[in-house]
Amino acid sequence: MSSLATLPLSTQVTVLRGLGPARAAALQDAGIHTLGDLLMQLPYRYVDRGSIVKLGDLELRSFNPDLEDREIITVLGEIHDVRQSLTRIQRMALTEVLLNDGTGMLKLVFFNQPYLGRSLKIGDRLLAFGPLSQGRGGPEMRGPQIELMARGGNENTLGGLEEIWVRRFLPLYRKLGPISSLVRKKLVEEVLLRAHPPEEWLPPELCRHLPGTLTALRLLHQPPDESDGRLLNLRETPAHERLAMEELFAFALGVESRRAGRLSRRGLVVPTSQNLRERLKSFLPFHLTGAQRQVFKEIVDDLTSGRVMHRLLQGDVGSGKTLVAFLSLAMVAETGGQGALLAPTEVLARQHALTFERLLGGEAHRMQLLLGPMKAAEKREALARIASGEVRYIVGTHALFQEAVRFRDLRLVVVDEQHRFGVKQREALKQKGGDPHWLVMSATPIPRSLALSLFGDLDQSVLDELPPGRQPITTKLLDTDAAERAWDLIEKELKAGRQAFVVSPAIDPTDESKVRLRDIQAMESLLRARFPGMDLEVVHGRLKPDDMAARMDRFVRGDAKLLLATTVIEVGVDVPNATVMVVDHAERFGLSQLHQLRGRVGRGVDRSFFVMISSAETERLHVLVETQDGFKIAQKDLEIRGPGEFFGTRQAGLPQFQVADLVRDRRLLQSCREAAAKALAEGLSEAQKEWLQRERVRLKLAEVS
Ligand code: ADP
Ligand code: MG
Repeated sequence: MSSLATLPLSTQVTVLRGLGPARAAALQDAGIHTLGDLLMQLPYRYVDRGSIVKLGDLELRSFNPDLEDREIITVLGEIHDVRQSLTRIQRMALTEVLLNDGTGMLKLVFFNQPYLGRSLKIGDRLLAFGPLSQGRGGPEMRGPQIELMARGGNENTLGGLEEIWVRRFLPLYRKLGPISSLVRKKLVEEVLLRAHPPEEWLPPELCRHLPGTLTALRLLHQPPDESDGRLLNLRETPAHERLAMEELFAFALGVESRRAGRLSRRGLVVPTSQNLRERLKSFLPFHLTGAQRQVFKEIVDDLTSGRVMHRLLQGDVGSGKTLVAFLSLAMVAETGGQGALLAPTEVLARQHALTFERLLGGEAHRMQLLLGPMKAAEKREALARIASGEVRYIVGTHALFQEAVRFRDLRLVVVDEQHRFGVKQREALKQKGGDPHWLVMSATPIPRSLALSLFGDLDQSVLDELPPGRQPITTKLLDTDAAERAWDLIEKELKAGRQAFVVSPAIDPTDESKVRLRDIQAMESLLRARFPGMDLEVVHGRLKPDDMAARMDRFVRGDAKLLLATTVIEVGVDVPNATVMVVDHAERFGLSQLHQLRGRVGRGVDRSFFVMISSAETERLHVLVETQDGFKIAQKDLEIRGPGEFFGTRQAGLPQFQVADLVRDRRLLQSCREAAAKALAEGLSEAQKEWLQRERVRLKLAEVS
């Protein structure tokens, strides 16, 4: 070990010599504060010097343009020419770069990245990766990834290539503001020289076969020439496993300690009686399904156990979660307490309130709906009724419950359609009402193995049965050219007195407020032309809540027959008379999302239809034609998209792992959970406590489950 190696990994990055104020700020912005943070951000790719193809050899390489999964090749050369133009048909920015490596030339083609035309200069040295396509003048590379290796005529700005590429593998890093990949490489080199290895914090049973932390980081930032390049790029080396294990162990410790804390808390005991049972029964409009009965029994056991309930209820769309929620709330409301149901949207909150009104019948005045945009006087009155205890059932949106609601005696919170309700929100609510019981109902079925490891501090219930009399939903996938058949089907159903949904995707589904409404407007014109005189409503995320609710209401009541919507109707909306849904551009949706959408039909006794219009990704979409099992669909979806996208970017609270992958590494997570329970029972070492504290911040674990 060099005598310079004196810095712990927790040292602030500002000690680094190569770091001016601009670069320090860029690291700060990226959440990189310590040397450890900097090292934990691994290269996104490793280039093997031996894999670089000479441009003169390209003509000789055979390539088949029909193959979908074409080989990615790597080339390195100097920019000979840069040209900027527009494509003829779609008027997209087109940037063409001619690369020369002394043995031959290759054209790189970029679409819609006009800034490249300004930033790339003749003489620059570029590394490019991508598949080859057959262009007019020979092979070309379309939409490659590139890495600037040196500026033309001014090699000193980045260091010469020989200086950078001293080993067989060149690691490439994501650019962070003014910090290019190569600058990052230098910073990392300095850290690796000056940092000393931390004390071991993993329990021996987890790390016996793995390199130490600093060794692992060195192997991944400066891979020795004998490394396996394929495993490096797949992130499957033992060094990766070491780092993944650390992340997962920190996560597991967090989950296990919360669980232990919960089990030690005294929960409110709901007194049961024959009287209560009779009363609950009197509310029921139909017999519970076997699954509903089983799940409700699990909930009653919790509520009477003297511990705090903390339960995740998973059920496929249409399995009847609302009724279970209602019964649970009635348990506390009918025994002197208050219960709250939190819905993700106002549309849903209103609908739940309506359902509760029906179930409560003559007792409906004991329920209070609470919405953000209520008139001030109305809201004041609602809050007063909640504070006085006059109302026992409270229904509202998630967001609202972060405001100044005061309860008289809150004993149960049910969170609908959101499986990751943040810890912070939960704490905020706890402040208001002692230590209420929690029931979280999941919007998307999550494969059981994953749910167990991810929600280890929640007990799990599953509704795996649909209410009787449901007919399977006939699901079709139509090519865009055959869309007319979808409209014919809608016409037929409307004529028979039923209602229909048409769903048009938002262009940026993560933020509807930014969405251009072109697609939905085009669809509206199409529908108005195809169904002249038909009573049509249009809803999307840009509407004011009042307007939105009024429009939804007209459809729910049956005044409007056809509803054109973006995914705002994705969760929960219940209109039994709607028997057909057509989704345009189905390829823009995840499978689980489509399954959720499909759950909006087939809620009555009539045969229902779900039609996807798409000419792309038909193989993926076919999964929905083949099965109606939400858990199977979720598994497929998860495999295809990975957990980040599967849970959706809006779902705050997924741990921010750098290396670990909840799906791929679920076996590791399982071992980590066992080890974490053991470590907690035996007491954590000082090094572990300190490290856990830092990891909590870095992985944002404080916000998880
Ligand atoms: P989800 O689980 O998707 O939230 P809902 O709670 O909206 O499902 O229930 C779907 C539909 O099934 C509703 O129309 C509801 O009235 C009906 N339903 C629920 N439970 C039963 C039951 N035991 N028997 C018959 N219909 C039921
Ligand atoms: Mg629901």
